[in-house]
Amino acid sequence: MFSRRLKRLTPYVPGEQPRDRSYIKLNTNENPYPPGPEVERVIARYNPETLRRYPDPTCTELRASAAAAYGVRPSQVFAGNGSDEVLSFAFFAGFDSAVAFADPSYSFYPVYCDFYGIEAKKVPLDDQLGIDIETLASTPDVDGMVIANPNSPTGSYLAPDRIETALNQYSPDRMVVVDEAYIAFGGESVVPLIDRFENLLVVHTFSKGASMAGLRLGLAFGSERIIDALFRAKDAFNSYPVHDLAQRIGAATLAEPSYYRAICDRIIATRARVFDSLTGSGWQVVPSRANFMFVKHPVLAGRQLYEALKERGILVRHFSTPELTDYLRITIGTDEEMDALLTALDAVTEGNTLSGVDAWPSSHPDR
Ligand SMILES: *Cc1c(COP(=O)(O)O)cnc(C)c1O
Repeated sequence: MFSRRLKRLTPYVPGEQPRDRSYIKLNTNENPYPPGPEVERVIARYNPETLRRYPDPTCTELRASAAAAYGVRPSQVFAGNGSDEVLSFAFFAGFDSAVAFADPSYSFYPVYCDFYGIEAKKVPLDDQLGIDIETLASTPDVDGMVIANPNSPTGSYLAPDRIETALNQYSPDRMVVVDEAYIAFGGESVVPLIDRFENLLVVHTFSKGASMAGLRLGLAFGSERIIDALFRAKDAFNSYPVHDLAQRIGAATLAEPSYYRAICDRIIATRARVFDSLTGSGWQVVPSRANFMFVKHPVLAGRQLYEALKERGILVRHFSTPELTDYLRITIGTDEEMDALLTALDAVTEGNTLSGVDAWPSSHPDR
């Protein structure tokens, strides 16, 4: 029983969602603030009778709302059941034999490669833990590249002009996927470039900036040619992946962005405060444009810190791969949650600070 394809797979391992006790949950980059007032309104007006019917397979209203919000045409928008699904369709539609992406980056990319039998050409980060886009873009014998910007788990950021330069030099026959899951936390989107680069696909999610990881809604922006290709992939897999309620909530949210701008600005302010506090105590902290921070203690190992925090009711993300094992990825929560984190870290690291250790450069050129 079971296919060779299945036996060969190594599935993605999501961050823990424990049910045994309540934690301060800083491990899966969820937004600590609730969804906006428009969501309650849509749910209150939702008629259960609607559930009798299949949802709109082409997400007409949602895509119109996204097009208006981003200044593109509806035909340049795709919607899927979370951006994970959108990315999966993009890998299927765009890549035959090989694709280049940074290492480390979003750990789902190698899983899609595995799933579709695509070779993953991994390009190490630069010495500041940023994406080396020049090397990425010059990787030979690939069908395209995927860039998470800001990157995960590091939070490092590429300014749009660096992506534009890479696109200018890149073969228009190769697809370039820019995964902007964290773009709401201080980055600038490359969606405006889709008119000029027919091979560019920009992927967004409602899970992080829009505070609705549970809704499972992702969007993609690209040329009509790429969007048609994604629809072709979707319609060979599931005609109705996006729930009707998700389509309605998404459309309403895109029409009222001010609440989300405000909560993301709060997260950015909290991030700056935590950055100063940790670098001040000798931690190495990668400057982040995301709603998390990638941090390393000068003495204590990542696993040890992860365990000690968990005992104190705080969950952070630790990756056991050798290059990442010294680090923790910590989601930016509310100010109160981050104060609890800083207090716990002080207690856990007491007596283990190396004086005179150079902190990570406290300002990172935004290259
Ligand atoms: C969280 C995340 C996603 C997945 O988002 P969903 O829309 O919840 O599936 C995609 N890419 C990156 C880099 C992420 O961190």
